[in-house]
Amino acid sequence: MPNIVVLGAGVSGLTCALLLAKQPGNTVTVVAKHMPGDYDVEYTSPWAGANVLPMALEKDSRWERRTWPELQRLAATVPEAGLHFQTARVLRRTKDIHSGLRAALSDGLFQPSPWYSDLMPDFKELPPSTLPAGIHSACEFTSVCINTPVYLSWLVGECAKRGVVFQRAVLGHIGEAAGMGGGKRVDVVVNAAGLGAHKLGGVMDGKMYPARGQIVVVRNSAGGVMPTTSGCDDGEDEVVYVMERALGGGTVLGGTYMKGNWDGVSDMEIAKRIMQRVVEVHPELTGGKGVEALDVIRHGVGLRPAREGGVRIEKERIGGTWVVHNYGHAGWGYQGSYGCRQPPSELPISRPGQLPVTAPINTI
Ligand code: FAD
Repeated sequence: MPNIVVLGAGVSGLTCALLLAKQPGNTVTVVAKHMPGDYDVEYTSPWAGANVLPMALEKDSRWERRTWPELQRLAATVPEAGLHFQTARVLRRTKDIHSGLRAALSDGLFQPSPWYSDLMPDFKELPPSTLPAGIHSACEFTSVCINTPVYLSWLVGECAKRGVVFQRAVLGHIGEAAGMGGGKRVDVVVNAAGLGAHKLGGVMDGKMYPARGQIVVVRNSAGGVMPTTSGCDDGEDEVVYVMERALGGGTVLGGTYMKGNWDGVSDMEIAKRIMQRVVEVHPELTGGKGVEALDVIRHGVGLRPAREGGVRIEKERIGGTWVVHNYGHAGWGYQGSYGCRQPPSELPISRPGQLPVTAPINTI
């Protein structure tokens, strides 16, 4: 009976825990400082929109490719999970195209003829005659928007149904997780600590940094459309997107992508700019009545767990226990959540010469 401890109860840890618990024979414990229901700047997942806008370049697209079918299935057949279908509209500005598409949010999303045209349903390029001034080209496809508080709680419920144990704890060192398996020997620890990996003993990943995302959540309906643009004129670290969460979760207006900024407090000047921009891009949001007609539920800030060199998915032997790292998903933690499970043959070992990992890793 493999005994597994998952550190972290964000979307990465909970998805791993669920997939592991679905495999007969595994015993799974989730240990975390923050759990669904908490709002804290050290806990990114509840702040996300979240939707699926494929961001990776084609060479790194496997995580998003593997995740989409499951999110699509949940939206179509599991209403209580809190996902619904929406139309994503990706607007490529002429000036961003000419400057080489250095969009703050991502590169892959705004590429003309993107790799995801064969993944996302109903993909189409929009006729140039329908585009607003300043927009070079645009595409639309069917995507989903996730009510993240509902979805995280649903993941907890699915885990609990399969016997997963939840335990609150603040770990100073990853090695402590190996002693939290209900008094039995722990075979594998999954490290899904998100941004916490930068200061967690035994990991201390200096490549981790925050990408600060400020948002405004409003009561206005986006009408089933999720527009996002390749850039804006308010600076390289400000972006424009709109998405309406399922099940009355409100409409999320974004945002920012401020690398290295740890500030967890909403800046009202930035909030004003966010609201002004989204109303310009999507005037239907207020029925053409302008920014004053936005009905604010709350302001918020989340810190995306970004990492120089990209996500860390690999196994490492620490203090006699195998640790599988799964952190550093930046702005794609939901849309890559299922795809980040990898078969052992594909998992690199961070310290060469160690034993290969066996069965428990299969579903990570
Ligand atoms: P977290 O959610 O931060 O979870 C980390 C967990 O580890 C927590 O439970 C924490 O308590 C625990 N932990 C850490 N250290 C310790 C410790 N020492 N001891 C005990 N517990 C510890 N992604 C998308 O896919 N689509 C989107 O549209 C999208 N939009 C976003 C918009 C915004 C504004 C933001 C901020 C993010 C967005 N993201 C989006 C990104 C997504 O939110 C993240 O990639 C994802 O939430 C990361 O999840 P995680 O589980 O790795 O980390």
